[in-house]
Amino acid sequence: MKDLYDFTEDELRAELEGLGEKPFRAKQIFSWLHAKGAGGFDDMTDLSRGLRSLLKERYSPGGLAVDTVQCSRLDGTRKYLFALPGGGFIEGVFMVYRDWNTACISSQAGCAMGCRFCASTVNGLERDLSAGEMAEEIYLMERDTGSVISNVVIMGSGEPLLNYDSLMRFIDIMTAKDGKGMSQRSITVSTCGIVPGIKRLAAEQRGGAHLQINLAISLHAATDEKRAELMPAAGKYSIAELMDAARMYYEATHRKLTFEYALIKGVNDSDEDAYELSKVIKRTRAPHLVNLIPVNSVTESGFRRPDREVCVKFKNKLENFGINGSIRRELGSDIDGACGQLRMLRSREKGGAGA
Ligand code: SAH
Repeated sequence: MKDLYDFTEDELRAELEGLGEKPFRAKQIFSWLHAKGAGGFDDMTDLSRGLRSLLKERYSPGGLAVDTVQCSRLDGTRKYLFALPGGGFIEGVFMVYRDWNTACISSQAGCAMGCRFCASTVNGLERDLSAGEMAEEIYLMERDTGSVISNVVIMGSGEPLLNYDSLMRFIDIMTAKDGKGMSQRSITVSTCGIVPGIKRLAAEQRGGAHLQINLAISLHAATDEKRAELMPAAGKYSIAELMDAARMYYEATHRKLTFEYALIKGVNDSDEDAYELSKVIKRTRAPHLVNLIPVNSVTESGFRRPDREVCVKFKNKLENFGINGSIRRELGSDIDGACGQLRMLRSREKGGAGA
């Protein structure tokens, strides 16, 4: 059965017309799904019983289910394990930061990129998520917390630019005015640096204008050699081409660029690394922020975070070289909800795919 969450409003209209229904029904259903938090067809009270049962026969009202929720005692962060239709699990994280609720969502089950410090990739890629499944991660968190999510970061498991069509569909659905009506500026896509994907994003047009979503690039090293060691798949692209693609995105959108840099003790945290990193960032000639993330330990990697003073010194070095850096505040560290720690532990226990 086709998942109704995966349709744009226009596609829904075409579907309903195909069923001999009035086109305005599309707007009603779309808004039930994406603005009014319907849990199922029976919630859609302004549809006739006949139409509801027709929909039930032909479409699924989403397929994701909350399996487990872990709540941080430190900061209100909630980590969700979602069961996928057809087996397997993904994770998402709900965070309260300043006055905003932010959802960190997954774009793929597992990940093929093989970054050596990241837990999401340990079992490889299971499958892409659909746009509807990505949207449902958000709606299930909203329903569970009873609050509205205003910001979305696509920084859970997976590489969003390798699931490009679903990513764009997701953005279109989330920003549709009859649905959740999010602003593109409150959506951030984090990539390990898929150069053709970034160029494609830079060329993308919506309503005659370039995109306005935020682009975050996971850099983690300032030389090609070191980067290829830490990020084997992403290292296929040189840092020079990656920075040129980032520049292209900035030129098209005028959005500030964000770079993520996990600080790893003895690996990429020296003064020399800070100097090389500043040269790399300058290549973009764009407003930027470097998010320094003291690496979170993942059992397999053996990587450790530098001492706090080393992180502060690294940030100060960057600033001396004219680069804006910030040491990222961590949320959910007591529930393994921090970067690189999302993984499908339960899939082992429960015998899901990718175990
Ligand atoms: N594939 C995308 C999105 C998922 S990763 C990307 O690579 O950007 C989200 C962020 O967490 C990335 O910046 C990633 O490099 C970072 N990350 C992964 N493992 C980490 C760890 N152990 N400690 C700190 N950050 C980590």
